[in-house]
Formats: sequence, structure tokens, C-alpha cells
Amino acid sequence: MNSLLVIATGNQHKVDEMSKMLEPAFTCIAMQQLGDCPSPKETGATFEANATLKVEQLAAWLNQAPPLKLPLDRFDRVDLLADDSGLEVDALDGAPGVHSARFAASDPHSGNASDAANNAKLLDLLKPIPEEQRSARFRCVLALLPYRPSTEARVALFAGVCEGQIADEYHGSDGFGYDPLFFPQGFDRSFGELGIAVKNQISHRALALRHLTTHLKEPR
Ligand code: IMP
Repeated sequence: MNSLLVIATGNQHKVDEMSKMLEPAFTCIAMQQLGDCPSPKETGATFEANATLKVEQLAAWLNQAPPLKLPLDRFDRVDLLADDSGLEVDALDGAPGVHSARFAASDPHSGNASDAANNAKLLDLLKPIPEEQRSARFRCVLALLPYRPSTEARVALFAGVCEGQIADEYHGSDGFGYDPLFFPQGFDRSFGELGIAVKNQISHRALALRHLTTHLKEPR
């Protein structure tokens, strides 16, 4: 079986993490590798809503039959996949949550802020918070929509959570987003120091992907 997963994201780090976990069983590509796909609008209030919006917007674009750089009929099976994820900090009542990518943006409806700006804002807000109160978690929701040979209207959702702690300074430069500030539970190094191989064993995205691959192996 020759299976393609088209990932509805412009974040190459997410594509790299997912590809490492899913290949060679699945060929993984970012949606931009198919063509000029518009960036999804994330207007939902939850990770579930935003992951669903992203995957449905990719399906809607494909249904308009745009010229594709990669013919989908080359694959026996094509699934569309979206990841919505973020960081929840207890001392900030769960913020930045679904706004993680645009935490430091002046207008929450404008585009994403840089990782550096988001991390600097997080460090600043947590400055007065003692170590034992800096608990946090990464949350990931994946939305899967089968596209070929048959299109399905129903989106399947898979979730993963990774508990940890926010550091008071940067540790390492691997990964992306808040990785240099996040110490996963049970480790004395941050995701920015642990590297992708360890992160892909324990991360929120890895756990959600494990649920997804179990689902994909089930007969349909
Ligand atoms: P999304 O693209 O709207 O899902 O935004 C996700 C944002 O959450 C990213 O831009 C990061 O700021 C943060 N995030 C999600 N997953 C991770 C991760 O694995 N490491 C670090 N930051 C993450």
C-alpha cells in the first residue's frame, strides 16, 4: 500500500517531526508541496476546532481541483492531516493555549509572532513565579480526513499531552517554538537540548500520532 499524508501546516518543524515518526509506512508532505494552498484560518476557540478547520480548509481547496505539483492518483491512499498544538501554563491560567503561535503579537487576530518574541514574553510574565509553580503542558490535537480513494465527511481527532515545567532561561536550540524553555516531566534537560529523537518518544505530538497510526492500521 502506497500511502500519502498531506499535512496542513506551514510549519516545517511539525512536518519534520511527523515524517520521522511516520515514514516509511507513509509518505509525508506539507500542503505547499502540492501547490499554492492558502494558509488556514485559525478562528476556533479550542485545539480541536482549529485542527478541524485546518484539515477541512485543505480538503475544500483540493476539491476545487487546483493544478497540483504532485498527482494524487500516484498513491493508493491519501489522507489529509492537521496539527493544532500549543503550550498551557498553569500560572497563566492556561495561556498561551490556542494562541501559542501568536502570543507576543500585538493583535491576536494578526499573524503569528516569532518564536523569540513568544519565548521572551513567556519568560517575562513568569519572572515572579517560583520554580514549583511553573508547571505547564504541551497539548496536540491531530485531525485526520481520508481523501482518496474515497472522501469522507467525518474528521477523526487524536490528542496527546506532555506535562512539564517552564525554565527561567533558555536551554538549547533544537526544535522550535517554546522547546528551549520546556523541561518535560522526568528529564533534567529541555526539549531544546534533548533533540528530535528523544522528543519524538515523549512529546504531545508523538502521543497523538501513536493514536493516529493505531487508527490507520485498522481495516476500513
Ligand atoms: P499552531 O501552528 O497554531 O498549531 O501553533 C502551534 C504553536 O504552539 C507553535 O508556533 C509553538 O509556539 C507552539 N508549539 C506547538 N507544539 C510545539 C512543540 O512541539 N514545541 C514547541 N512549541 C510548540
